[in-house]
Amino acid sequence: MADPTEERELLQRARRVRRLLRVKPGSVDLAGTDPRSTPGLPPARPADADPKSWSRAEVARIGTRIAAGQERLFASAAVGADRRRALLILQATDCGGKDGTVKSVVGTMNPLGVHIKAFGPPTAEELAQHFLWRIDRALPGAGYVGVFNRSHYEDVLVVRVHSLVPRKIWQARYDQINRFEQDLASDGLSMIKVMLHVSYAEQRERLLARLDDPTKRWKFNPGDLDDRDRWDDYQEAYADALNRCNSKAAPWYVVPADRKWYRNWAVANVLLAHLEEMNLTYPDVALDIPALRARLASGEQEVNKR
Ligand code: AMP
Ligand code: MG
Repeated sequence: MADPTEERELLQRARRVRRLLRVKPGSVDLAGTDPRSTPGLPPARPADADPKSWSRAEVARIGTRIAAGQERLFASAAVGADRRRALLILQATDCGGKDGTVKSVVGTMNPLGVHIKAFGPPTAEELAQHFLWRIDRALPGAGYVGVFNRSHYEDVLVVRVHSLVPRKIWQARYDQINRFEQDLASDGLSMIKVMLHVSYAEQRERLLARLDDPTKRWKFNPGDLDDRDRWDDYQEAYADALNRCNSKAAPWYVVPADRKWYRNWAVANVLLAHLEEMNLTYPDVALDIPALRARLASGEQEVNKR
């Protein structure tokens, strides 16, 4: 993408989408956020364009920039002393589109520099530790982009809804999470927290699709229906997590996610805006280039003589 005007427009739009989706302090309104809405979508899309193919092409275009940022981040850590890293946290109910987002958006990056981790129910070893222990161990190292499919937020979501620990314990976790995230941010970790917001009706459609389609059936977990029965409790727990753990250091975004093509496009924009904000550049490399060139040239002659 050489055209500077096109590039500038792409960035401006990414920043705008990010601003629109950002949870404003203390005011998340999930019930008032339409999961089918499409904030920030450019009006100039070709009227007859199929939104899915439009989105695929756009995500590829945005992805080129994302990958460029990622490479600079990786290079800065590999060669310099830059310890910065990024972390994309994906939270959603079952069928919310976390896996699809990893495939479509995270897939635009070089797998070499990406560190993906999914969190399921804690193991016996993990349960014996503080709830942030397994999270800490899974954080991306310098230069990496980490992706969490679920996260420490499960410890104030599923754990709260199903009373897996006493109220007093999970209540104290919001402050613990805030301290943890603040420390990480001061240490050079750029965090992007995304809640994929799907509707009750859309979840039903997706669950039915999993039952109907033999290639999707393996994803169906009957236990997901127990969580579905507690939908309102989850929405309330999400609202609390988004309100209580939302800071400049670790901002939350709510992405309307009933339309997969919008979801992918929106997350790609938010990710791009974050990476651009990091002002990533290639590291200065101290090499004696003339001497190295000369050495390569002389080696060439040796080989040719043989
Ligand atoms: P999936 O993402 O579909 O593979 O499902 C992972 C399951 O692990 C979900 O049902 C989560 O609620 C559950 N899970 C993740 N973290 C925790 C946690 N800290 N405590 C209990 N269950 C969890
Ligand atoms: Mg579940």
